[in-house]
Amino acid sequence: MTQRRSTSLGPGRMLGILGHPVAHSASPAMHNAAFAAQGMHALYGAFDVPPPQLEKAIAGIRTLGLLGVNVTIPHKEAVMAYLDEVAPTARQVGAVNTIVNRGGRLIGYNTDGWGFLLSLEERGVRVAGRSAVVLGAGGAARAVALHLGMAGAGRLTIINRSRSRAEFLAADLARAKNPVRAEVADPGSEEARAALSQAGLVVNCTPLGMDPDTESTPLEDVGLLPADAVVYDTIYRPLETRLLREARRRGLITINGVAMLVHQGACAWEYWFGRRGPVDVMRAAALAALEERP
Ligand code: NAP
Repeated sequence: MTQRRSTSLGPGRMLGILGHPVAHSASPAMHNAAFAAQGMHALYGAFDVPPPQLEKAIAGIRTLGLLGVNVTIPHKEAVMAYLDEVAPTARQVGAVNTIVNRGGRLIGYNTDGWGFLLSLEERGVRVAGRSAVVLGAGGAARAVALHLGMAGAGRLTIINRSRSRAEFLAADLARAKNPVRAEVADPGSEEARAALSQAGLVVNCTPLGMDPDTESTPLEDVGLLPADAVVYDTIYRPLETRLLREARRRGLITINGVAMLVHQGACAWEYWFGRRGPVDVMRAAALAALEERP
């Protein structure tokens, strides 16, 4: 008689993403494809959690014995209040995107910045000594700017609509364990033009250009950038934003947000399973999911 494989996952083999809305997330496809490719008996789901339900949802990780979760918009900051421990880097970023359940003790990490750096490394972009401009000063910008600083970026400039938020980020960077000096510039100002004209790397961390506002751009004139600049857009819907399209037409190196999405997911595996996730499988699954639901 052939033995049937149990369909019961058992405790500690279930994971997922908490967000609101979350139905269009590519993460379940990405992680489940990786489990299948590695013959792992685990399942990753999408949990739509409205903000008032966040505390109960976090308690549910313990109650139901989930192995861990990812956290996305709008919960990345608020979730920290409900965890038993927040890792120092996540604390510095001010946001958690990965939670591990260690025997009922919930520990929060942030893999966005780490994933961002790995996505540059895979394209052969050296950060050390490179002048960088970060567009935006929200959660993604905080992770990106902190990790650019940690990786030894040269001059770092933050350009944001609200100057006060950019100044707040610059002050936090200056107080970091390995302090990073960042300048602040208003969009369209002389300071911003000067920083952009010397930038080796420009990273868009605003939603400008994201579906459905695909004709928006955080940078009206990519002609300002040096001919060897790398233009990185953290947006992955659409895969090629107006910013990346204009940069590509100018002959600049472009990187879209799928690279960061995939690497932050692969890095989350380090905390859940003690090893990095299979990046190629995860990328193919994420791209297929994004094509299905652009
Ligand atoms: P957030 O915390 O809300 O920050 C948004 C930032 O964009 C703020 O600096 C905000 O400026 C600026 N902004 C928003 N609307 C703007 C507008 N109309 N004009 C000018 N500036 C505007 O959001 P977030 O979590 O950092 O996410 C930002 C982007 O990063 C999103 O597009 C998201 O898709 C992307 N992201 C990608 C990944 C990935 O894995 N690829 C991971 C995380 C985030 P103010 O300070 O003036 O409000």
